[in-house]
Amino acid sequence: MLLANVTVRSVERPSPSFARIELGGPQLADFGVDGPLFDQRIKLVFPGPQGLPALSAENWWSDYTSLEAETRGAVRTYTIADVAGAGAETRIVVDFVIHPGAHGPGSDWAQQASPGDELLAVLPRRGTVGGGIEFEPGDAERLLLVGDETALPAIHQILRELPERAGGRTGAVFVEVPCAEDICDLPVVDGVEVTWLPRGERAVGAPMMESVAAHLGFAPMPAAAESAAVEPADAAPPSADDMPWETPTYSALGEAAEEVAPPVDGRYAWIAGEAGMVTALRRHLVGELGMPRTQVAFMGYWRQGVAMRA
Ligand SMILES: Cc1cc2nc3c(=O)[nH]c(=O)nc-3n(C[C@H](O)[C@H](O)[C@H](O)COP(=O)(O)OP(=O)(O)OC[C@H]3O[C@@H](n4cnc5c(N)ncnc54)[C@H](O)[C@@H]3O)c2cc1C
Repeated sequence: MLLANVTVRSVERPSPSFARIELGGPQLADFGVDGPLFDQRIKLVFPGPQGLPALSAENWWSDYTSLEAETRGAVRTYTIADVAGAGAETRIVVDFVIHPGAHGPGSDWAQQASPGDELLAVLPRRGTVGGGIEFEPGDAERLLLVGDETALPAIHQILRELPERAGGRTGAVFVEVPCAEDICDLPVVDGVEVTWLPRGERAVGAPMMESVAAHLGFAPMPAAAESAAVEPADAAPPSADDMPWETPTYSALGEAAEEVAPPVDGRYAWIAGEAGMVTALRRHLVGELGMPRTQVAFMGYWRQGVAMRA
């Protein structure tokens, strides 16, 4: 693991819902992943009222959590959208979603960022075995990638690396974005069909549920029943730490981890985005269609109306 001081090198607004920010710094010379990046996640530490916290590389998390919550800033998870340069000139690109309505520290920072602004980044260190990549299709021949705007950077990177790193597969990709202007060029992969779903005024996850249901052949619950099943009316306010997170080798639901086995019917599904949408899709795919857990990765990236805790 590498804790790096990084500085904003450039800011672009490629579409209404995204800020594309390039971060650089000499310490990124030690950043590296042994293999494809796919959906490699990183942590970013945003400054609080007193600036960036002082954290040690070895114990950055315990150092951070021991600081006063009001002044220590905030930590959020992002995806490496791209990497440019090399050595001390290495830059990482992060595509930040600019949320409508309620803003958090990550979205706020990205909206106002300008060259020279500083952050701390926690990333994989070159030459060490790190975590943070969940896209592991194994030998699966048919892929299903499902994500909303927060998962678009990961989907982009997966498609960019797929032909070289895991080519020869067919698949379907569904991406829900806030508006039609957010539709962008994704790498074209033979046999992989991309469906864009601009949300407009509809509820988060609604266009996705409809399209994936039609693709896989299940009947989605009506929206009201769906949200009641996801968040019972009398449930305690959900914690951001209770994100659905279930991959072939890990289950936040506490189910026993399974050996990663070859997919029984050649399918692999990678699903990431708003927690309610992810949970509802899991119920249909695993509960209703009987897709084995060894062939699915379901990951809640954010929860509507709930700020991350860190
Ligand atoms: C593995 C992983 C990879 C991720 N990659 C990316 C990435 O590349 N780019 C990216 O932008 N996000 C990404 N996310 C999601 C990001 O961590 C969350 O959206 C996070 O909540 C943003 O922090 P914030 O401070 O802006 O908002 P918070 O303080 O966490 O939340 C404040 C309010 O904003 C709302 N909110 C949070 N996110 C969104 C959203 N996307 N749209 C609308 N409302 C929202 C919350 O519901 C809450 O009401 C990723 C998450 C994970 C787990």
